[in-house]
Amino acid sequence: MRLSRYFLPVLKETPAEAQIVSHRYMLRAGMIKQASAGIYSWLPMGFKVLRKIEDIIHEEQIRAGHIPLLMPTIQSADLWRESGRYDDYGQEMLRITDRHDRDLLFSPTAEELITDIFRSHVGSYKDLPLTLYQIQWKFRDEIRPRFGVMRGREFYMKDGYNFDLTKEAALHAYNRHLVSYLRTYERMGLQAIPMRADSGPIGGDDTHEFLVLAETGESEVFYDSAITDLKFGDRQIDYDSVEQCQAVLEEFTSRYARTDETHDEALFNEIPEDRRRVARGIEVGQIFYFGTKYSEPMGATVVDADGNRVPVHMGSHGIGVSRLLGAIIEASHDDKGIIWPEGVTPFHCGLVNLKQGDEAADTACQAIYASLTAIGLEPLYDDTAERAGAKFATMDLIGLPWRITVGPRGLKNGVVELTSRRTGASEELPPEHAIARIA
Ligand code: ATP
Ligand code: MG
Ligand code: MG
Ligand code: MG
Repeated sequence: MRLSRYFLPVLKETPAEAQIVSHRYMLRAGMIKQASAGIYSWLPMGFKVLRKIEDIIHEEQIRAGHIPLLMPTIQSADLWRESGRYDDYGQEMLRITDRHDRDLLFSPTAEELITDIFRSHVGSYKDLPLTLYQIQWKFRDEIRPRFGVMRGREFYMKDGYNFDLTKEAALHAYNRHLVSYLRTYERMGLQAIPMRADSGPIGGDDTHEFLVLAETGESEVFYDSAITDLKFGDRQIDYDSVEQCQAVLEEFTSRYARTDETHDEALFNEIPEDRRRVARGIEVGQIFYFGTKYSEPMGATVVDADGNRVPVHMGSHGIGVSRLLGAIIEASHDDKGIIWPEGVTPFHCGLVNLKQGDEAADTACQAIYASLTAIGLEPLYDDTAERAGAKFATMDLIGLPWRITVGPRGLKNGVVELTSRRTGASEELPPEHAIARIA
């Protein structure tokens, strides 16, 4: 992409309404624009990162054997009356009345709708196990929307639902989700720690939240610092293997790690003192097992091997897709701007032409651009007439992992400059070596 043809409305001033760094940088880097309180337009670069995050989530869910579908955002209140949640959900639910006076709502989550799909089409234990998921916009009329996309009213969420014959099978689905989430967050350059949590309005006994440690996080967390040494890495896992998934769950949840809702001071004090941590975290996902809480009232049953009709065991599993942009920036930035992890960066590399209009510089930039594109990388080429300082400031702000700087002086010696956004280290080398380094 050439910057002169892109739409990147960078702001020079720091927006006064933004209280935390991720919100500030998302506004300044022209990624989002508030449409109304807690509701945002996703400008091209924000949208690009959102899609990268979404792609990783899809890949990891499909790898775990989960099946994507798409459900509507606007739902009939009738289903929610069946489960009893139309009244229970409270003021976070946006209620809508259509021209025929029918009650509708903008989905804050989708247990009811997915359970209705399941009961309409599945009747035998032979069709289990089944996990369906979607990535879809949600609406919650948060009392205090804030911090940009971190606590929006409209937000993008991955929500998955497992249907199983027995509790044991449903707990395997739970563990499978835990494993797939560990992989998902690590691919985004994040450490998200599974912590024992409280189940809230979704209901149920078993639940973990995934938290990214950050001073600006809204949750208070208590953990054993040994947990931060755990890495999922690139280990291979067979998602059908109960033992393998269980082992990962045990490895990642055996240390003390809890949110304030489930915190137990006595247990916490059993950890050696130098490993006790009290900190703040951003909730980027949550998994639940809730058994037959919805299948029973809604009649989602299957016939088991003995011919008996039994309610299925379910769980639901969410990832805050749009919130993740904020969480990633909170975890990875400096005072100049964002530092994108490679896995989610909107462009792989920035290309800065120090002297636009200089024949040698223009030609070299075009050749580097073509080479990067040919190997499947997406560069952002600053071909504008801005001065060098302004170009560098923009590149630092938008946080691409690499910058190649091309100027007439270097070209005379056959070199360009390659700069790592994360370390700030620069190196002069021939263009083809710079490209090879990035690839
Ligand atoms: P929170 O405690 O932050 O209000 P939640 O526990 O109500 O979140 P869940 O029902 O667990 O949210 O939804 C799954 C995920 O969706 C959350 O882990 C979070 O990452 C994301 N999420 C929830 N509410 C919002 C919101 N208002 N804006 C952005 N993301 C959200
Ligand atoms: Mg909430
Ligand atoms: Mg929560
Ligand atoms: Mg939650």
